[in-house]
Amino acid sequence: MTYDVIRPFDPWKSELCTCPDKFSFNPYTGCSHGCLYCYATYIPRFYWLREKKNLLRRLEKDLKKLESPLISMSNSSDPYPSVEKQYGITRKCLEIMKGYRIKLLIVTKSDIVARDLNLLSEMQCAVSISITSIQKNPLEPSAPEPERRVGALRKIYDAGIPAILRLDPIIPYVNENSIEDIIESCSFVDHIVTSTLKLRKDSFNRVIRRLPELEGRYKKLYFECGEKIHNSWYLPAESRESILKKVVEKCREFGISYGFCREGFEFNGGSCDGSHLIIK
Ligand code: SF4
Repeated sequence: MTYDVIRPFDPWKSELCTCPDKFSFNPYTGCSHGCLYCYATYIPRFYWLREKKNLLRRLEKDLKKLESPLISMSNSSDPYPSVEKQYGITRKCLEIMKGYRIKLLIVTKSDIVARDLNLLSEMQCAVSISITSIQKNPLEPSAPEPERRVGALRKIYDAGIPAILRLDPIIPYVNENSIEDIIESCSFVDHIVTSTLKLRKDSFNRVIRRLPELEGRYKKLYFECGEKIHNSWYLPAESRESILKKVVEKCREFGISYGFCREGFEFNGGSCDGSHLIIK
């Protein structure tokens, strides 16, 4: 089956990906949040946010033939860039999706998602909000302030919609000492998804341009002691394990389930993306 704007998630079937079969849908192309560590910058002119032509008609056409009901929105952009407040493109997509029997997993770094609570509460969905810091993260120059994201996650939870904290990525020397505080500030959530920072040449260059003091440390950690898996550099396995252990301990303290994204370690049931909260 061929699709247009809805695409199979991870068509390359990476052995590190433990996600269930799902589709991926990006209402926008590119992303204006400007995260310097972003993994999606293989997309040309990525930080330039664009609309898609005839998106609503194309979406509806795809939805009519969808083979698997699980859709993740979005994986290589954010469905709630700041212009969504004026354009309402994602909201229009939700209005269309509501007419189909789909299960929707929203992944965003924006509090604008809370605007759509009325629609989301009528759908089978879970909302995952990425929060990587307590104070503004210098590597996320244009993303909404962390406290706004925490507030939105709380509203999602209070509306009875499964709420997921995406503590991702954990960035050595930047936010690894904030793990406990971030989890405490979101201890009401239903699930936590976490992952350590993976680097590519372009993201390494962007990160050290913003935080030059990390250059030597990252060269040693990632390029000398770490390992290259596919196109990304990972921290050494023992470092990743020790960082993720902190998340596990805190999740256990609050009785929250957790999953790791592309780490190659076991997770404690549930799922690596939170989809177990909607696939029942
Ligand atoms: S919000 Fe996500 S897609 Fe957008 S720049 Fe940040 S990491 Fe990339």
